Amino acid sequence: MKQRHITIFVTLLLVSSFSLVQAQNVQDRPGPITRPMIVEIAKNTYFINEFGMNAMYVLVGDKSALVIDTGTGFCDFKGIVESLTDLPYKVVLTHGHPDHAGGINQFETVYMNLADTAMATHIPFEQKVEYGEIMRKMNIGYKNVWGYVKEDVITSTELPEIKPIQDEQVFDLGNRKVTAYYAPGHSPGCTAFLDMNSKILFSGDAANGNVGTRLPVSTTLRYLVRLKELQPSYDRMFTGHISYAGTIDVYSQKLEVLDDIIEAFRSILRGDAEVKEVQNHLFPEMKNTVAVYGKASVGFDPNKLWEEGEEHIIY
Ligand SMILES: [Zn+2]
Repeated sequence: MKQRHITIFVTLLLVSSFSLVQAQNVQDRPGPITRPMIVEIAKNTYFINEFGMNAMYVLVGDKSALVIDTGTGFCDFKGIVESLTDLPYKVVLTHGHPDHAGGINQFETVYMNLADTAMATHIPFEQKVEYGEIMRKMNIGYKNVWGYVKEDVITSTELPEIKPIQDEQVFDLGNRKVTAYYAPGHSPGCTAFLDMNSKILFSGDAANGNVGTRLPVSTTLRYLVRLKELQPSYDRMFTGHISYAGTIDVYSQKLEVLDDIIEAFRSILRGDAEVKEVQNHLFPEMKNTVAVYGKASVGFDPNKLWEEGEEHIIY
């Protein structure tokens, strides 16, 4: 009798481990690309495409490396980083949204603009899975190209130590300096990173063509104009969403997009903006008020154009 029990137990164990293996099988996944894509976009500069959900970057200097954003958490991103460099590295966030901060649990320390700390440290598993599903249905680029499943989400809930990034803080990687520039709007803590070596601005979501702001328009505009003024120092802009959704191309966002965003925000403050109501691209049931200019379509709160008591000067 005892023998029989053991046999049944072993059989069950075999069956369950077999189905576990099956679930991991490539054939059972909804698309053919089952691991994040890694592309070297400049010398010692890597773009990691986490299944079209977002763009993470690893910049390697002589003495250390810098990791920009941690993704949604659908992969062993720490493992990817450590496959790209043996050097010590720091992890920084462009902002605290789930598709950029969702993977922070994998790291011991993360640097960020503290204005986004609360959102970065409260991202439940369900929100990551939901975002993955929204992106799968986005209908941009190839259909069913990505082979991720919700079981890929790293379930650790451990939080890293959060350390602040100051505006214009320099990260010295050894013969390579990267400077942080606050660019609040898309979120209060948005930060862009300028790498003088590759001449790339890593802008996160601060200067995407569809950027929106819940801060006063004048505040967001001032910081975007500063990013524009840095332009002789960069000739490419890699956002937080290169290769968006089902696209797999790797390219810099056209620099004119930032010009158009700035003009769109200026037109709001001047009072001559071309204003439209559009569907929110992530949540179609929601509507956004946007100002359109060239390639830009920027969201804003009509009741928040200026900071309180501010002199109305358009930068
Ligand atoms: Zn975002």
